Amino acid sequence: MKLTVIGCGYLGATHAACMAELGHDVLGVDVDADKVARLQAGEVPFFEPGLSDVLRRNLAAGRLRFTTDHRDAADFASVHFLGVGTPQQRRGYAVDLSHVESAVDALAPLLRGEHLIIGKSTVPVGTAAALAQRMAVLTAPGTRVTLAWSPEFLREGFAVEDTLEPDRLVVGTDPDADDTAADEVIAEIYREILETGVPFVRTDWATAELVKVSANAFLATKISFINAISEICENVGADVSTLADAIGYDGRIGRRFLNAGLGFGGGCLPKDIRGFMARADEVGATQALRFLREVDSINTRRRGAMVDLVTDAVGGDVLGTNIAILGAAFKPESDDVRDSPALNVAGQLALRGASVTVFDPKASLNSRRMFPMLSYAQSAREACGAADAVVVATEWAEFVHMAPEELADVVRARVIVDGRRCLDATAWRAAGWEFHAIGGPMRDRPNVGPTPRVRPDVALPQVETVATPPSR
Ligand code: NAD
Repeated sequence: MKLTVIGCGYLGATHAACMAELGHDVLGVDVDADKVARLQAGEVPFFEPGLSDVLRRNLAAGRLRFTTDHRDAADFASVHFLGVGTPQQRRGYAVDLSHVESAVDALAPLLRGEHLIIGKSTVPVGTAAALAQRMAVLTAPGTRVTLAWSPEFLREGFAVEDTLEPDRLVVGTDPDADDTAADEVIAEIYREILETGVPFVRTDWATAELVKVSANAFLATKISFINAISEICENVGADVSTLADAIGYDGRIGRRFLNAGLGFGGGCLPKDIRGFMARADEVGATQALRFLREVDSINTRRRGAMVDLVTDAVGGDVLGTNIAILGAAFKPESDDVRDSPALNVAGQLALRGASVTVFDPKASLNSRRMFPMLSYAQSAREACGAADAVVVATEWAEFVHMAPEELADVVRARVIVDGRRCLDATAWRAAGWEFHAIGGPMRDRPNVGPTPRVRPDVALPQVETVATPPSR
């Protein structure tokens, strides 16, 4: 099939390349000419494992190209995915829909005949209905444009895998129209994926829009839940990591997304829960999502708690100290620094008078753009030169598996602060380091192996002496 993907950022570039991988002829459209030129040259403008291969393979096969011209898109195909950004408004919690609206405004008047637009951006409930009305005014007489909404659930760091092997496909269509033809087109686009048994949820616009923000609200709540518990653990000297392992054995709870630490960030969870709260108010469900305010507050509090912990670790005042921050991306396997907890902490420490040096395996360039006043190093060792404290702020595998000896001879003081509770506390202490962890003590755990972090959000506890409880 011939498809276009409007908006070629993290979501859109991945979607365009993966749709081509499924055998479709794909045209990616973006207003950013530099991004388009790089994608067309086979260069992924951000870090996403595996995407470069898929992009280059499909460019070479002639199934994929990129343009800045919406007219090309209107002429090229009759099915258009919409993946432009939906950031938080500058003033207030609501979602800034101007990119979605401008994409529709640019495309709709150019369409002729029958077209299907499939929204993938994360939008507040009611957006599809409003856009359908907007398009009805913009489209030429005799042109019929159907709008479906199919939210995207990919995780940065696993974007290719998640696009080609999703947990589920969700498609919402106009509840007042018979859009079975749209359903069939979408089923055809994803035929190869659906044949593997992936659940295909067909519903109305509003439900589809709500599925995405509800999923993100749930995940954010789970992270803030364990971080709230960690605040109690901090006060009573309990180990929240062992606690999370123990409650995670209950199949109803599960261990994923129960890692206490510096909390969530990035281009999705923070703005999505805020946008959800704002829209709940607008639709009159003013009480419904009040708890998300607390979820947000717990999350933001972690950043301040981390700054306090580092301050304590260097003796009560960071002024004049050298602090190494390992990690700048909001999570490992990504170069995304949007609302990054790591950079927030780095910035706060710098404002308090510390000399902060940051190292991230992939996100240094993006970080430098956002926080030019910080220093950036080419390696963890370089960042830790003469450091009074080393702070692990993003759980990249190279930091998790770092041997304490690697840094011992370059630091000024052997003080390590684990902002993700991802290090082997026993090993660091044994090597003579003063070990601090956000969320309270990390006990030596002779019976419990280090938590394997195969994927950043999947932490299956490896317990050697305790039998796995039967699943319920
Ligand atoms: P992004 O900022 O990386 O990409 C958005 C792209 O849209 C940019 O390249 C921008 O230049 C382009 N754009 C803006 N206006 C345009 C227009 N009128 N025509 C064509 N292109 C235009 O954002 P992203 O992270 O890819 O997110 C996009 C959407 O997907 C958001 O709604 C986000 O919430 C959602 N989402 C993102 C992820 C993720 O992991 N990044 C996951 C699921 C859902």
